[in-house]
Amino acid sequence: MNNDLFDVTIIGGGPVGLFTAFYSGMREMKTKIIEYLPYLGGKVSYFYPEKIIRDIGGIPQISGEKLTENLIEQAMTFDPTIVLNEQVLDVERLEDGTFLLTSHNGAKHHTKTIILATGFGTLKSVKLDLPFVEEFEESSIHYAIKSLARYRGKKVLISGGGNSAIDWANELESIAEKVTLIYRKEAFSGIESNVRRLMNSSVEVLTPYQLIELQKSEGKLSNVVIQHMETDNQREMNIDYLIVNHGFHINLGQIANWGLAMLDNTIQVDHTMSTSIPGIFAIGDISNYPHKLGLIAGGFNEGPIAVNSAKQYILPDEQLVNLFSTHYESFKK
Ligand SMILES: Cc1cc2nc3c(=O)[nH]c(=O)nc-3n(C[C@H](O)[C@H](O)[C@H](O)COP(=O)(O)OP(=O)(O)OC[C@H]3O[C@@H](n4cnc5c(N)ncnc54)[C@H](O)[C@@H]3O)c2cc1C
Repeated sequence: MNNDLFDVTIIGGGPVGLFTAFYSGMREMKTKIIEYLPYLGGKVSYFYPEKIIRDIGGIPQISGEKLTENLIEQAMTFDPTIVLNEQVLDVERLEDGTFLLTSHNGAKHHTKTIILATGFGTLKSVKLDLPFVEEFEESSIHYAIKSLARYRGKKVLISGGGNSAIDWANELESIAEKVTLIYRKEAFSGIESNVRRLMNSSVEVLTPYQLIELQKSEGKLSNVVIQHMETDNQREMNIDYLIVNHGFHINLGQIANWGLAMLDNTIQVDHTMSTSIPGIFAIGDISNYPHKLGLIAGGFNEGPIAVNSAKQYILPDEQLVNLFSTHYESFKK
């Protein structure tokens, strides 16, 4: 067992967990972040690193990638311990009231308080269920777009009918040589204005079609076969890249069995971000309270509230005070 006792362990290194680590450091709490993915940034890094975010106060626009970069820099201010590639599964309360967390690989983490910033859980894209898929996942089959430039001048087929699929088709229209979008239903489920833009664009839209075969040539994905859902009519297409947007699995895993009061698969908290288990707090997308907004900016407020609550939990006589960064001694240089 790693006997190092932390004041706060934040589970989840998404935007909200990262900002919370900064604030926790400023409140002089020994802080650890545990993240399941091999990188930080949560949904922002996973789904939309190149998208422009415009709804964070004081930042008129910023790409997902730059926001993540800034959040990591800010989180590192007080040198928290960062653990990647670990999914926290279990919690045990020890006799002295502290917690022992266990990750999927058996690693143990000892902490006085826990802040859950898990989003809706670990993220895994719904994979395409066809032969050869895994062989091409790195090279030509992608479940998220990490870099638009990669598709410049290429023939791209997108499969999916939700917001992400439509959005990427619209974004790639001016970059790729040709974009084709197929969806197994007739009508798209994305935002109306995005669907309108799609329908007025040069993107080839084929509905209701599904992918039924991948063909390879000289070790590369070369062609795909798509089939009309009603007529069974088939078409073979030559492509460079296949982007699959069939949604994603969200898995809160064992945390859902910790005995926390839940509401619609999210964790109920009160105005102090306390869950139903003393010493465990929840923030960001996973937390739920009346009028909750699933916005990054909202999570940036919930984090400091949870940190102050955690501090008060550890030191019950501590007054809950606003700590401004402008008042923080080490910054006044
Ligand atoms: C396509 C898209 C566009 C969006 N655009 C905007 C926007 O413009 N503006 C805006 O404000 N919001 C936007 N959002 C919403 C925003 O991304 C989320 O509100 C935000 O990411 C929530 O942050 P979080 O830190 O709570 O959770 P997440 O970003 O989901 O991060 C949670 C992290 O916890 C990790 N984790 C989960 N379970 C465990 C575990 N058991 N052990 C260890 N690690 C774990 C996950 O791997 C993940 O990295 C968008 C969302 C999507 C999908």
